[in-house]
Amino acid sequence: MNEFLEIPKTAMVIFAHPDDAEIGTGATVAKWVSNGTNVVYLLATTGSSGSNDLEMTSKKIVEIRSNEQIQAAKAIGVNEIVSLDYVDGELESNRSLLSDLVYNLRKYKPEIVFTHDPFRMKNFLHRDHRNLGFSVMDAIYPYARDHLHFPEQINENIQPHKVKKLLFWGSDEPNICVNVSNYEQKKVESLSKHESQLPGLSLGSEYGKNIILRLKNSAKDLSFEYGESFRMIEARS
Ligand SMILES: [Zn+2]
Repeated sequence: MNEFLEIPKTAMVIFAHPDDAEIGTGATVAKWVSNGTNVVYLLATTGSSGSNDLEMTSKKIVEIRSNEQIQAAKAIGVNEIVSLDYVDGELESNRSLLSDLVYNLRKYKPEIVFTHDPFRMKNFLHRDHRNLGFSVMDAIYPYARDHLHFPEQINENIQPHKVKKLLFWGSDEPNICVNVSNYEQKKVESLSKHESQLPGLSLGSEYGKNIILRLKNSAKDLSFEYGESFRMIEARS
């Protein structure tokens, strides 16, 4: 495991449901934003299935989670959230999703992209996470890069774009770790805004302590205290 030292100018977090971004990248993004990185959140679904409350309707939970996501992003320092509004649980790795991803990569031109690792074998993986992870990989290479894919998108503002690095969270085999010491509490703070999903989460709660402990474990063989780990693949230059 190597320490990942780079702090890019631009990055994008592409995630399936409200709260996935903070779970995957909360501390890293908090650190990068405070060092000047422009980070855009690209949220694929509305989170319309995220409730165990039998009285809850999809319409109500969508509104609640949308507000929670705005507050969580604000706690991290991210101001721009692009919502694709696919239905929670019905995300398909298809042409429509690919087109939306390619368009937003070409529009925001991130150097680094984060998303779900679709190759996780050791644990269950939400189908939306898997489908999105595969589509993000495809969107980066070759679709966003090559002008003959989705040529109807191309104009003076929307140009082919080459993402340099793709970082997966939730990976069986992470190969890099970002030193997030001093930002470990930010992760819990931002996640606590997702109250409908993580009720009662705070720094002092069991789950809050557990999140901090996991960041500590990620950095256990490294020279810093808290880390967020990812599996990175790089584009050939
Ligand atoms: Zn999710």
